[in-house]
Amino acid sequence: MIAPNLSIVIPVFNEAACLPELIQRCLAAGRATKRAFELILVDDGSSDGTTRMITDAADQHAPELVAVILNRNYGQHAAVFAGLAQSRGSIVVTLDADLQNPPEEIPALVAEMDKGFDVVGTVRGNRQDSLFRRFSSSLINKMVRQSTGVMMHDYGCMLRAYRRPIVDAMLLCRENSTFIPILANSFARTTTEIAVAHAPRLKGESKYDIIKLLSLQFDLLTSMSTFPLRLLSIVGSLIACCGMGFGVFLLIMRLVYGAAWAAEGVFSLFAVLFVFVGAQFIGLGLLGEYIGRIFRDVRGRPRYFIQEIRGGQATTAPATFKPEGTS
Ligand code: UDP
Ligand code: MG
Repeated sequence: MIAPNLSIVIPVFNEAACLPELIQRCLAAGRATKRAFELILVDDGSSDGTTRMITDAADQHAPELVAVILNRNYGQHAAVFAGLAQSRGSIVVTLDADLQNPPEEIPALVAEMDKGFDVVGTVRGNRQDSLFRRFSSSLINKMVRQSTGVMMHDYGCMLRAYRRPIVDAMLLCRENSTFIPILANSFARTTTEIAVAHAPRLKGESKYDIIKLLSLQFDLLTSMSTFPLRLLSIVGSLIACCGMGFGVFLLIMRLVYGAAWAAEGVFSLFAVLFVFVGAQFIGLGLLGEYIGRIFRDVRGRPRYFIQEIRGGQATTAPATFKPEGTS
């Protein structure tokens, strides 16, 4: 079989109810793109018969359908990574298994990629989720835009397309807790977004309860920036400044109104306390700065990614990474 042009990667966790329709609609969407494609279904430790359905489907639809079975549940993004590692297409599209992202949008994503973008994101029109989910999602999207500087509107939607070098770049990142759309954008030069439809979840249940959602938000926040650590120093400096200001204010009032006003020095204790509390925060923030550095180095992300070398001795265009920390 010729190497596929397009890989469709889908993480699947206990989605037996959606699976038959998903497979049929994805295969149809793949064929509609009129190029060699592979559909990679990653079973993330399901316990409801999904595993069997996926392996059977792989036998039935070989070589278009590839089953990747993980030995236990590792979470959505880890499962997508497992699929990315197996993918061979020059364009990789990811989506959810619950049919909230209509597979029929895949040809539109591919057509947009053909214009030369590194990453094509999507914006869910008329999003079919709870008010709480939509609110927290818009808050997080704002934060991500601030921190990454990439103006995308909907980081939560997994229906996205990535070019091969971006996928390879992500696979070289060894960190564990990560959020794929943000990681991809940190390597992309040109990105765009298209509007896609969004359907309510018709079968099965959302795999994210409030605890899992919170943990995902923390992953997201800590994976993209060490700013929260710096915030400690900033808050500490503010508290210390308030303490000093308060001290000066007390001194003036003491001079003007006498010792009785200052309740025999009780308030000055507060001023001193504020300064010390502030100093402690600043100390924590400084420790945080070092931890942030350790965090960045331990992650060992590639420092840069060479797209092409021309001239000199180099006749090919190697896609190489220079790991962080080596020279
Ligand atoms: N998923 C997964 N492993 C998990 C949780 C979810 O592979 O531990 C998959 C799930 O099967 C679905 C996608 O991730 O394909 C998104 O999950 P879900 O639709 O439950 O999330 P929501 O739409 O509620 O954010
Ligand atoms: Mg869903």
